[in-house]
This record gives sequence, structure tokens and C-alpha cells, in this order.
Amino acid sequence: MDTMARTQAGAAETFDTVNPATGEVIATFPVDGPASVGAAVTRAQEAAQWWGGLSWKERRTRLLAWKSQLARYIGRLAELVHNETGKPLADAQLEIFLTIVHIDWAARNAEKVLGPRRVRSGLPALNLASRLEYQPLGVVGVIGPWNYPVFTPMGSIAYALAAGNAVIFKPSELTPAVGGWLVSSLREVVPEQPVLQLVTGAGPAGDALARSGVDKLAFTGSAGTARKVMAACAENLTPMVAECGGKDAFLVAADADLDAAADAAAWGAVSNAGQTCIGVERIYVVEKVYQPFLDKLSERMAAVRPGDDRDADYGPMTRPEQADVIEQHIADALARGGRTVVGGMQSVHRPYVAPVLLADVPEASRAVTEETFGPTVTVTPVADLDEAVRLANDSSYALGATVFARKKRQAMAAASALRSGMTAINSIIGFATVPALPFGGIGDSGFGRIHGADGLREFARAKAITRQRVRPPLNLTSLSRPDRDVKRLLALTTLLHGKRYR
Ligand code: NAD
Repeated sequence: MDTMARTQAGAAETFDTVNPATGEVIATFPVDGPASVGAAVTRAQEAAQWWGGLSWKERRTRLLAWKSQLARYIGRLAELVHNETGKPLADAQLEIFLTIVHIDWAARNAEKVLGPRRVRSGLPALNLASRLEYQPLGVVGVIGPWNYPVFTPMGSIAYALAAGNAVIFKPSELTPAVGGWLVSSLREVVPEQPVLQLVTGAGPAGDALARSGVDKLAFTGSAGTARKVMAACAENLTPMVAECGGKDAFLVAADADLDAAADAAAWGAVSNAGQTCIGVERIYVVEKVYQPFLDKLSERMAAVRPGDDRDADYGPMTRPEQADVIEQHIADALARGGRTVVGGMQSVHRPYVAPVLLADVPEASRAVTEETFGPTVTVTPVADLDEAVRLANDSSYALGATVFARKKRQAMAAASALRSGMTAINSIIGFATVPALPFGGIGDSGFGRIHGADGLREFARAKAITRQRVRPPLNLTSLSRPDRDVKRLLALTTLLHGKRYR
């Protein structure tokens, strides 16, 4: 059902979405609640039957047609993302490009990852043929954030659809027009059934979706909201994926290419006004190169300018209240003895926040322990890469991380030792651009995985089937089981498993 129809169908209340840079109203949407969300679930259940009943090839063709639709209308969608979030047009285009890469991968790889396969039955069950199937779950609810309103929710939507599920999408209340565009664009290439539906509203609409009896809920947002969503999901034992916030660390080794590292760190810290779950928020630099790195980073950050014009490096804070959090984190860092190298309290001039580089900030400060979600970053010297890993890992969050080091072995060892779902070496957020790699967090950064084969399996149910081909040599699962067969089983157990291991 489109927005107009949903409004007429009884969603009495509406809300506006506004351009965060200009305050201009973009569109009006209905506030969905339990009744309209429940009706969407009923429609989705029918759509899931049809969609799940299509062949892998039929779904692939349709999803590739959707991908091509996004590619051809990338300009229009990017304009909408720019208007609703305030981010520069080029950033919106990059986000959509990456999304297209993911839809393409999910569509092309779903059968290979999830298609039925024979598995070995093993010696004790040689008489059985064994088969593993990954069946669709049915209806998947997706609750999205506003910071990457295309890329982030599509990490769940595209993979859930490719796995054969119908999806109900509740975008952030700050970006419903982008959500609506995505839903309409799929409807154009899949007109038969509403395999992707839109519901809109703030927290209560998401809560209604979590309680609606969907077969799985994929949530992306803050850890605090994830806790509420998990409690709501508990009502129906609805499983969920939680993609939450981060406090990503960036490690610089003594032998790192400092220009490349400073360039990557500056982009990672301030792009999208720092409103990135895998944005760089903490930098640990080996002492020997601390000062030259700090100089290079501050030079780059000082040259960056937020604004709404085409030349601006990034846009306004999409969520105005975030500026308060940023202000508090800077103030707390300064009160505890930290200093600003670039910017300061005056950098917060709503709705914009200019870059802030903080040094000498104690590890217990809010700017180090909590997600700031702004264009700020702390830089701290460390004795060596081991200390950098130790400090990076001392966080309740564990989403992404970055290591800059020339020696491959050292870089790989640090990458493995970092407590994070993903780590990039000598580049920034490389892992998000490789669709075959899973994406997700640990601890307060959430659980479950989107993207890649793990992301497809997240939206499927493993089903085991055995078929007896010939009668078993031992008749063990019968009430008339002969003692002789049990004795043979014991002899077989000793033979197969009784060997001593040292
Ligand atoms: P948020 O937690 O405020 O809201 C996220 C979504 O949840 C929104 O759609 C919101 O309407 C909905 N919601 C709010 N209360 C709800 C409730 N009680 N029940 C159900 N739904 C509810 O987060 P946000 O401000 O939209 O997004 C920013 C956060 O998202 C940051 O913490 C960021 O790091 C995180 N994020 C994580 C990833 C990732 O992949 N790990 C990606 C992007 C953003």
C-alpha cells in the first residue's frame, strides 16, 4: 500500500520529514501502529509464499532488475538522500554505488550459498542419504537508521530478499522518503506481490514491527534502542540481528605510511559529519611517529569545511540533538586535561559541527568510551602496536577497526588481535566494500551478520533431511533391538573412538 492509501486507511497521525540544512519540509508520512503494521505482515505472509516459491533464477533476475533500476536512477535517489540527510551529493552517490554492489552479489550468490546440497552421512550412518536445505524464514522486519539510509538497511533487505523472504521496512523517521523510494523502485520491477513494504513512524512504529510476529527482525541503530527492540522481540521469541554503534579505533605503527594514514584517518573521522557507525573515533599512534602523524592529520582536518553548498566536505548533523552529545564529549575531554589541536567548543555551530581533533585525552573520558557520532577524534600516543591493540580492545563497543603498518605480518597479527567484527589494513573501511565479507559487531556493537554468505544465512533456516537408502547394518532404533546389535555398536565405538590421544 502506498503512503496515500495508508494515510486513508486509518493512520490518523502524520509526521513531516525535513531537510536538516534548510528546515524545508520534504514530505509527509503516516504514523503506523500495531493495526497497520499487522495488516502489512498479513500481506507480507502471502507475498512470502509467492516469492519463496519462485526459483533461484527467477528471484535473481528480479533482483538484478532492481539493481539496474537503482543504477539508472542513482541521480534521483542521491538527490533525495542529500535532501533528507544533508550529506553531500557525491557521498550519497558513493553510498548507492556500494549498495548496488551488494544487491548484485546477494542476487548472484544466493543459490550457491543457500541452495540444497548433499552432505556426507559419515561411517555410522552410511545407509542414509543426507541433505541440507536453507529455507526462507518467511517475513523479515527491517528497522533502519538515518545515517546511511540506503546502504545500511539494504545490507539486510537485499540479503533477506535474495534468501527468499518478504520484507517489511521501517526506515528512520528522519529518512522515510528514501525508504519509500526504495520500496517503490522494487515494486516497479516486481509488481506481482508486495515483497517489500514500507511502514513509517518513530520508535512506536518500530516497536509495533518488533512485536508483530515477523519471523526475524533486523535492527540497525543504537545499542540502547537494540536493548528495547530485543525485549519487544522476546514476546514472540522473534530472533533478531542487531547492528549497533561503534567506537572504532585506528592504529598507526612506527613504519606506517604517515601521509596515507593521516589521509585515511581524516576521512574516517569527519566524512558524513562523523555520523558513521564505522567512523574513526579513536586513534592510537606509536610514540616514535606521534608528532609527525599529528601534524599531518591536523593539517588535513583543519582544511575541511562543513556546509550545504556543492563544495562542502560534509553536511549538517542530520539529527540536531547529536550536537549536544558532541559538545558534552568535547567539554568532558577538556575538563579532564585534554587539549584541542584542531577546533574546539566553538566548532559546534548548529546544525554544523566543524572538525575537532583532541589530544592528551584520558582513556576514561566520554570522548574515548562513548560513541560521539560527530566529526571529532582523539589521538593518543602508545609505546607499540601491542599497547595500541590493548587500548583499542578496552571498549564496550567492537565494530570496525583500522591498522596502518608496512610489515604485513605485524599488521595481520594486530588485525586478528583486535576485538572487532571487521578490520581494514592500510585503507579505510575496505571491508564494507567487499560484498563477500560479513559485517557486524561484538558486545554493544551488536550481534549477527549482514553481507556475504553469513549475511544470506542470517535470513534462512537450516533444514536437515535424511533418507534411508538401505536397511542399517545395526537395528538400534527399534523396540525389538537385539542385544547382539548393541554389543556390535560398543565394539564399533571402541574401534572408531577408543584410541588414546596424548
Ligand atoms: P536509533 O537507535 O535512535 O534508531 C534506529 C531505528 O530504531 C529508527 O528507525 C528508530 O525509529 C527505531 N526505534 C527507536 N526506538 C525504537 C523502539 N523502542 N522499538 C523499535 N524501534 C525503535 O538510531 P539512529 O539514531 O537512527 O542511528 C544511529 C545509530 O545507528 C548509531 O549508534 C550508529 O552507530 C548505528 N548504526 C549502526 C550501523 C551498523 O551497521 N552497525 C549502521 C548505521 C548506524
